[in-house]
Amino acid sequence: MSNLNHPLPKSPKLGFVTNAFIVATLIVLAVMLPLAPWLFKTSTFVITMLIQSSTYSIAILGMVIVLGYTGQINLAQAAFFGFGAYGVALGTTVYGFGFWSALVVGVLSAGCAGAILGLTTLRLGGHYLAMITISFQQIFDLIAVNWIDFTHGPDGISGIERPLVGTFAFTDDRAYLALCALVLYLLIALVWYLPGTRWGLSMRSVRENELAAEVGGVNTLRIKVTAFTLCAALGGLGGGLFAGGFAYVSPDNFNFARAIEFLSMALLGGVQSPFGGVIGTTLLILLPEWLKQMPPELQFIKDVYLAFYGLAVILIMVFMPEGIWGLVKKLWPPVGYTVLEKSLSKAQFKLINESASRAITLEIKNLQKNFGGLRAVDDLSIQVNKGTVHALIGPNGSGKTTTLNLVSGIYTPSSGQIFVEGLDITNDKPHLRAWAGVGRTFQNIRLFSNMSVLENVMIGAQRENNPALFKGSTKTVRDCALEAISFVGLESKQNELVLNLPYGHQRLVEIARALAGHPVLLLLDEPAAGLNQTEKGELVQLLKKLRQGHGLTIFLIDHDMKLVGGVSDVITVLNFGRKIAEGTPDYVLNHPQVIAAYLGAPDATS
Ligand code: ADP
Ligand code: MG
Repeated sequence: MSNLNHPLPKSPKLGFVTNAFIVATLIVLAVMLPLAPWLFKTSTFVITMLIQSSTYSIAILGMVIVLGYTGQINLAQAAFFGFGAYGVALGTTVYGFGFWSALVVGVLSAGCAGAILGLTTLRLGGHYLAMITISFQQIFDLIAVNWIDFTHGPDGISGIERPLVGTFAFTDDRAYLALCALVLYLLIALVWYLPGTRWGLSMRSVRENELAAEVGGVNTLRIKVTAFTLCAALGGLGGGLFAGGFAYVSPDNFNFARAIEFLSMALLGGVQSPFGGVIGTTLLILLPEWLKQMPPELQFIKDVYLAFYGLAVILIMVFMPEGIWGLVKKLWPPVGYTVLEKSLSKAQFKLINESASRAITLEIKNLQKNFGGLRAVDDLSIQVNKGTVHALIGPNGSGKTTTLNLVSGIYTPSSGQIFVEGLDITNDKPHLRAWAGVGRTFQNIRLFSNMSVLENVMIGAQRENNPALFKGSTKTVRDCALEAISFVGLESKQNELVLNLPYGHQRLVEIARALAGHPVLLLLDEPAAGLNQTEKGELVQLLKKLRQGHGLTIFLIDHDMKLVGGVSDVITVLNFGRKIAEGTPDYVLNHPQVIAAYLGAPDATS
C-alpha cells in the first residue's frame, strides 16, 4: 500500500540521561514535599494547605477515571467527598467508631451512591447525565443542611478524630500530611497504571466511541458503573481524610460550588492524567492563597484576584484544552506515550471461532424495522451459510445498513427473529452478540481515535466469553490483537495513534478489531467505500484469504458490483426494505428486476 505511506509525525526524542534526570528530580520533589515540614520551619497554615491539596487531589483522581478515562461527566464529586467526610465525622463523633472503620463506611457509602448514579447512564448520557449529577449534588446538599438530627445541619460537626496506627496517633499535622501524601502517591500510581489494563482500555473505548465499544464486545454499562463507583469511592476517601485533617466539617465544604471547583481543578490540570489532576488541584488551592498574601504595593492584585483567577482558568481552557498536562506532554513527550512492547506469541490464534458447527451461521426470519411511518426493513428472511461470502446489495436507502444494525444489535427489530449459530440473539444487547461471535465494521468508520492501533484491536480481542482469552492475561489479549494486526498487514503501525493513519489503514484496523474477537460471522458495511483501486484489490485479497484459509462467514454490503461479484458466493438484493432477488452473482446481476431497480444497466459499476 505504498500510496498510503504518508509520513507520520515524529515525536522529538530526549536522551535516556535527560529522561532519567527529569524522573529523578520529580521523585525527589514528591518525596521532599511531605518531609519538608520536618526539616524546615513551616507554618501550620502551609501544612494545612498541603493537607487540603492532597485530600482534594485524591478526589480529583476519581474525576480522572470517570471524566478523563471514561468520558462521563460528573458534577457531584463534592457530594461523594461529603459521603466520606460525614462517614468519618459521624462515625468517630456520634457512633463511636475508630477512624479507620468510619473511613471504610464513608468510602463504601460513597461507592454505592456512585454505582447508583452510574446506573442512570443506562438511559441517559451527555447533558442529561450532567443534569442528573447536578440534581444528585443538590439533594446531598439539601440533606446535609436540613436533616439536622442526623447531619447536625449548617453548624457542622467538630471534634473529629484522627487515625491511630498501632499506638501512633496522627495528631501532629506533619505526620497527618505524610499519611495523606502516601495514600495520594499510591493512588496516583494505580490510576496511572489503569489505562493500560483491560478495564482501562474498555473505559477509554467508551470515551472514544461508546457504540463501537459496545458492538466490539465491551459491556459499556458495566464499565460506566465501575468508573462511577471508583470515582465516588476515591471522592469518599479524599473526603474522609479531609475530615480527619480538619477535625471539622460543615455542608458548605460539599456543595455545588465545590463540585464545580473540583471540575475546574481536573480540567485545568488535564483530566486525562492523574498527574494533570493533581497539578490542577494544587494550583487552584495554592494560587489564590499566594495571591491573597501579596505585599501592600501589590494589593490591587489581591482585590482583583478572583477575576484574575477566573480569567486564567478560561484562557487555559481555551488555549490548552488538554490542560496543563497537555502542555507538559508536548514539551516532554515520553510521559504521553505508553508504547506497548512488541511480542508476537508463539501460540497461533485462529482468527475465527472454531466452535462454529452449524451449516447456517446467520438466519434472519421475517425481520421488520419501522422508523415511525417508514418501513426500512420489510419481512426480510435471509440464510447465510457457513464459510461463504454473502453480499447484501441495493440502492441507497434500501435498508442494508439497517439490516446490519439489527443483526449487531444497535437496533431492536419491530418484529422477526435473528439467529446466530442457532442461538436466538434477537433481543440481546450488542456486546452479548459480539460474545456470541458477531464482529462488524461500520459504513462510517468508528474507531477509538486517540488510542493506538494495538489498543483498538485489543478491545476487539478481550471478549470475556472467549475461551482462549477469558483466563488470559493482558499479554494474551495483546498477542491475539497482534495476530489480527499482522493478518491485515499493519504490524509496522501497531503503536500509531489511529487518528494519524490514512483512511485505508483505518478501514483495515476496523477489520482487525472485528477479527481479533474470533468471530463466527463478520459483518462488513461498505468496506470498499473511499478506497482507491489498489486498496480495493488488496481488500478483495484479504476477503478471499479470510474465506478460503480460515472458513469465516462474511455478510457484506457494498456498492461496487465488481467487488461484490468477485468475492461473493450468494447475493441478496434489497429494494425498499424487501428482498427482490437472491442467488449466485451471475444469476442476480443479470436478473431483470435487479437491473431495473438498481443497476440501471447490466455493466454499471457503482
Ligand atoms: P442503506 O441501504 O443505504 O444502507 P439504510 O438502512 O441506512 O439504507 O436506511 C434505510 C432507510 O431507513 C432510509 O430511508 C433511512 O433514511 C431510514 N433510516 C435509517 N436509520 C434510521 C433512523 N435511525 N431513524 C429514522 N430513519 C432511519
Ligand atoms: Mg448504508
